[in-house]
Amino acid sequence: MSEVERGAISALLKEDRKYAPPQEFIKQANWDDPQIYKRALEDPEGFWAEMAAAIDWYKKWDKVLEWNLPFAKWFVGAELNVCHNCVDRHLQTWRKNKAAIIWEGEPGDQRVLTYMDLFREVNRCAVALKRLGVQKGDRVALYLGMVPELAIAMLACARIGAPHTVVFGGFSPESLRGRILDSQAKVLITADGAWRRGSIVPLKENSDQALSGTPSIEHVLVVNRTTAREKVPMKDGRDLWWDCEMEKSGAAVLEPERLDSEHPLYILYTSGTTGKPKGLLHTTGGYLVGIHATAHYIFDLKDRDTYWSTADIGWVTGHSYVVYGPLSNGATSLMYEGSPDYPDKDRFWAIIEKYRVNILYTAPTAIRTFMRWGLDYPQRRDLSSLRLMGTVGEPINPEAWVWYRENIGGNRIPVVDTWWQTETGMVLITPLPGLTVLKPGSATFPFPSIEADIVDDNGNSVPWGRGGYLVIKRPWPAMARTIWGDPERWRQQYWSRYPGMYFTGDGAKRDEEGYFWLLGRVDDVVNVAGHRIGTMEVESALVSHPAVAESAVIGINHDIKGQAIAAFVTLRSDYSAGEELMEELRGHVSKKIGAIARPERIFFTAELPKTRSAKIMRRLLRDIAEGRVLGDTTTLADPAVLHSIKQQYEDSEG
Ligand code: ATP
Ligand code: MG
Repeated sequence: MSEVERGAISALLKEDRKYAPPQEFIKQANWDDPQIYKRALEDPEGFWAEMAAAIDWYKKWDKVLEWNLPFAKWFVGAELNVCHNCVDRHLQTWRKNKAAIIWEGEPGDQRVLTYMDLFREVNRCAVALKRLGVQKGDRVALYLGMVPELAIAMLACARIGAPHTVVFGGFSPESLRGRILDSQAKVLITADGAWRRGSIVPLKENSDQALSGTPSIEHVLVVNRTTAREKVPMKDGRDLWWDCEMEKSGAAVLEPERLDSEHPLYILYTSGTTGKPKGLLHTTGGYLVGIHATAHYIFDLKDRDTYWSTADIGWVTGHSYVVYGPLSNGATSLMYEGSPDYPDKDRFWAIIEKYRVNILYTAPTAIRTFMRWGLDYPQRRDLSSLRLMGTVGEPINPEAWVWYRENIGGNRIPVVDTWWQTETGMVLITPLPGLTVLKPGSATFPFPSIEADIVDDNGNSVPWGRGGYLVIKRPWPAMARTIWGDPERWRQQYWSRYPGMYFTGDGAKRDEEGYFWLLGRVDDVVNVAGHRIGTMEVESALVSHPAVAESAVIGINHDIKGQAIAAFVTLRSDYSAGEELMEELRGHVSKKIGAIARPERIFFTAELPKTRSAKIMRRLLRDIAEGRVLGDTTTLADPAVLHSIKQQYEDSEG
């Protein structure tokens, strides 16, 4: 790609709606001093040392940061334990009987674990793991649905210093096997099944398939969730029931290991939106400090809040902002097991009403789905308990942002669009809800101390008002330390493109006021007759039309223009596809952005291909459009969707 911005049409930057934080919010915000940005940039290490004061350390650090590019060490020489920080220390306070986890099962059952309960369960699990021979440094794979046992197992691993690798419960046996082989896990914790949309995901069956070629696994602990015990095949000597093992542990308490600040906490594989997933390694001290502070300041966590991140724990959002961030803050974290449309499309809103949820963190793709389902569902429920909302995972279209703020947030509360990655461990670009004037669709500014920039091909900063590649110019505490088993790939992939800078792989623009606008992946940029257009901009224009629920835009080859724009579009429930609507949508995009962005081709489809973390997979649509063999599809949520799109596409070409 030459220069991303040359001749670009900045549809997004035409966005001129602004929302200042409400007075009531400012009054109580965890951060209300704008000086923080300047102070933190001038002395980032001092800033993080200050943030580290909120954590319990067995031994303080000798040095905040040791930076041997591209390998960082934070809080060098310090000792701590993440589980102690998320559980034990709250028992010394009034929080001991506060709800740590409120869990709602898909069938409607519920469990509440206070910090004291969590302490007991985590200890029993840690003792069981030790009994099964898990030692400090050994890896434990977790393949579960969204049940409290998943959080308990993660914390138990952290307690004994055994890095976990959580594999999203929606993954196939092959994906699970690949991750177990890569991490060489010794124990697998799974369940008989998980509830999803009223049916059972056969986790144990999948595990049995996965384990056919994984000699490192010695034992499998099985949580009993969905199926009559006698119907679950258990392999003698290898498989054990979770609850029996927990019972065996009795009331035993195991002191948390004193771990070095750089001791591995977990390995987590990326979503695989652009290619084969990478196993990112996160460690102890810096990670905890980074997510503790970001959770506290971005979500404005207060002790009275009920906080709900709808992310699955199988993704980094679940690690950092369902489990470790909220619990280290002593917050109440809500977990929901199932699907947003079970038994009806108002399930999220019913949960908010039922538990009086105050803070909601979800994904743009979910919001666009809710838009498609219509207003009837949120309007059935009382959402007035909400005081702050966030989004993560993809760029959010301004229309979706505004819809969310108006119809879920009642037009009165801040919405924080948070940009980050599995690699970054913590949010890096985000509003601070008591400080930042919001613009719909913009993740606004880097978190204090984070030096983000937008550069051109040569690594030079581009002026405000222009676009390019998003880079981070200094290490931050929760950054991944390496790719598990492949430090060379860590260097190659992220640190070699621009010397001294972390290459995010995302395109971004900064407007005249310095706001950051994320444009998605750098390869999601189309070059039409020399004009570089972010697919995200065209998608936003399409979604701003009342008929459109969601869209994925790609570039296709064009004899004259080089590339032309093709759009895959799903419609809202009360619209139907047709030539007329197609013309109307073309006209709509021309009006919003300019004739140059007018889609050459529009395909109406019932669904878009998405990863299992619900991100749109444009690379596979490009494969279809260019008649190539489909690339890696193992991270697709539903490969059938792709094949039906392929069929439709080929028929229409026919
Ligand atoms: P892979 O790297 O394997 O292709 P992935 O990048 O989808 O997978 P994640 O680490 O889960 O895996 O996702 C991070 C990416 O999600 C970011 O690089 C960015 O493209 C996108 N993203 C996350 N949050 C935002 C946001 N607030 N705005 C725009 N994009 C976002
Ligand atoms: Mg990525």
